[in-house]
Amino acid sequence: MLKDIKSFDLEELKKEIRVLGEKEFRATQLYEWMHKKLAVSYEEMTNLPGAFRERLDQEYSYASLHIVREQISKQDGTRKYLFQLADGNLIETVLMKYHHGNSVCISSQVGCRMGCRFCASTLDGLERSLTASEMLEQIYEITRHIGERISNVVVMGMGEPLDNYDNLLKFLRMISDENGLNISQRNLTVSTCGLVQGMRRLADEKLQITLALSLHAVTDEKRREIMPVANSYSIADLMDACAYYFEQTGRRITFEYSLIGGVNDSKEEADALAGLARPLHAHVNLIPVNPVKERKYRSSGRASVENFKNRLEKRKINVTIRREMGRDIDGACGQLRRRELNE
Ligand code: SAH
Repeated sequence: MLKDIKSFDLEELKKEIRVLGEKEFRATQLYEWMHKKLAVSYEEMTNLPGAFRERLDQEYSYASLHIVREQISKQDGTRKYLFQLADGNLIETVLMKYHHGNSVCISSQVGCRMGCRFCASTLDGLERSLTASEMLEQIYEITRHIGERISNVVVMGMGEPLDNYDNLLKFLRMISDENGLNISQRNLTVSTCGLVQGMRRLADEKLQITLALSLHAVTDEKRREIMPVANSYSIADLMDACAYYFEQTGRRITFEYSLIGGVNDSKEEADALAGLARPLHAHVNLIPVNPVKERKYRSSGRASVENFKNRLEKRKINVTIRREMGRDIDGACGQLRRRELNE
């Protein structure tokens, strides 16, 4: 198999280029073409010698994604892209337009093996992890497509990012590299279902990114009912890992809490959630569960979502309700890909 040229960071690319017998500054030029100017092929790289470009073309693969479908929400302009990878696999990426800029939600794997009961991405298990270049290209292709800069990235699409640790880390460093799109680390968020070793490892990298923990329950028993990963890690272990992340990075954790009607939306649970969030100064993001056809869960009503939020606020917790963007376009993770596969 050919080496994937777009997954090399600048240092690695310099080594590759040296082995090819080219001058080091060619690596910087090449890196800029791929990661700053977002060239779609070597042909565009007109300041590189023709013979060099030909050699690159023969010896390396050049990752690109193909847009299979684009759905634009009539409600809020959210766009959902279905991309095809070079091997034919399909992934989903979402673009949300906010007043403060363009935010993209990327996938980190094809499918997922975490098995959360309310989630569509995991229904067929894990197909494979994405390479760094495939994560980058989701952002690059949307940037080319809309002709505007992306200012925020959340790794909250299909897959469990910490189950693809090395590629994720490479991606985070490259997307925030000043030789590339240079997106501030403070505008990057990684969401995990709670793989404790990965959370601690990420803390030790001392990046300035936000870590979001998908908590969704306040007792181990309830969490095990909706998230199989809770059989491996207790909430106490998760809270320790969150405290460690905060200590190492100075970055506040976000708790994600998907409200499922009659399952995890009681007053008592709101109070217990406040109790978990307070010592960590964690921000709470409430997500009314997006019903998935194959799953039995229903969303909490508007009123109970508001009540849940108010209860947290009374306890001085910083809380937001995630805008339910793009619900008319299969907004929930994994729904669009599933529909395409079924058809
Ligand atoms: N695997 C990572 C990131 C992907 S999911 C994680 O678990 O955090 C991004 C968020 O959406 C997670 O909080 C996930 O639990 C939540 N989610 C998945 N399906 C959902 C649905 N149908 N309704 C509401 N939230 C959902």
